[in-house]
Amino acid sequence: MEHALAVQGALLDGERVGLRAVDGVIAELGPRVEPEPSDETIDGSGLALVPGLVNAHTHAAMTLFRGYADDLPLMEWLTRHIWPVEKRMDDEDVYWGTRLACIEMIRTGTTCFWDMYWHAHATARAVEDAGIRAVTAAPLIDDADEAKSERACGDADRSLEQIDEAGGELARPGFAPHAIYSVSERSLRWVAGRSAELGVPVQIHLSETEDEVERCIAERGERPAFYLDRVGLLGPRTVLAHGCWLDRDELDLIADRGATVVTNPVANLKLAVGRVFPYRDARAAGIELGLGTDGPGSNNSLDLLADAKVFALLQKNEARDPAAVTAGETLAIATGQRSGLLGGRGLEIGSPADFLLVRADDPELSLGELDAGLVYAASGSIVDTTVVGGRVRMADRVVDDEEEVIARARERAARLGLGDA
Ligand SMILES: [Zn+2]
Repeated sequence: MEHALAVQGALLDGERVGLRAVDGVIAELGPRVEPEPSDETIDGSGLALVPGLVNAHTHAAMTLFRGYADDLPLMEWLTRHIWPVEKRMDDEDVYWGTRLACIEMIRTGTTCFWDMYWHAHATARAVEDAGIRAVTAAPLIDDADEAKSERACGDADRSLEQIDEAGGELARPGFAPHAIYSVSERSLRWVAGRSAELGVPVQIHLSETEDEVERCIAERGERPAFYLDRVGLLGPRTVLAHGCWLDRDELDLIADRGATVVTNPVANLKLAVGRVFPYRDARAAGIELGLGTDGPGSNNSLDLLADAKVFALLQKNEARDPAAVTAGETLAIATGQRSGLLGGRGLEIGSPADFLLVRADDPELSLGELDAGLVYAASGSIVDTTVVGGRVRMADRVVDDEEEVIARARERAARLGLGDA
């Protein structure tokens, strides 16, 4: 049976329109679009249509670590507080941590996220149950030790199969070599080959800190993006998270190879990496771009609209130019429209029916331009309705199962010694 969802009387570019989604795809959109008798309907009065947000880099299950061991240097935070607990985590911990993250993302307008975390098949299961899209991948880490590479690559292959089994229409598998300093050259080359063979995407942290760049130059005589290119990993299926310390030659190379850079301004500020992502140079080079929150352990929020504001303000200040990035361009980046890999399109016929209805009559959006209101005035709480694949995941700000998910996530955090049940 065909499933159809119709929105009536919502605002789009200043005019009242209807939208019909049939089997998860936008089939009709415009002022004269009316529902069919059997359609599920949404009254869009007082609401405006906006494409769903794409959180292009996170570690969703780290909601369990939120508010635990904050305000510490990165390596101390990881080695003394995060990694020892992660060793004790199981599928159910990751499942409920991710479910909690999904609720928060649905409530703040994210319809798709790119995730790198352990037990990635549990992430995939959570994503399917929550009804949100994700590319999920288990981190591949071999401590940059070639002797450990074969086993790590075998694990990555197995994880891919497990994600495929757990996932469905919403969760897609990928590879996630953690970073150039934690993964050997052998494993990076293996990922490049496997990704090309299977056509699956790759996520990797790149040039987050100055130390990473200096070590790469000292050990390999080249900067990180050139190294990644040499091992075959710089291509249109690759998402590079951070990129704060990329230089102009690297940006030109990345643009030429078609990889996507995802900037995570709030996490970079919180971890004090010391350099702002060179957005203007990246844009001038023609790089594909996305926006991410990074994990809720290091942000600590998953509200991508809040991060969109920080991104825009930071880049304006850095450039000493208030026109360095507009509200409209910021939203295009946050909705995946500036990267083919992240989706690349807005609300149009034939696009997946992933969209939001935002409260256009609330004070934050009641006057002035919608884009500016969304980026500079509102937060994710302005989202009234979230639709993924033509299915309503939140209506009137209510997400099903919310209470149960919060209770179960609290239990899992307490089990790990991270909080009170
Ligand atoms: Zn990350």
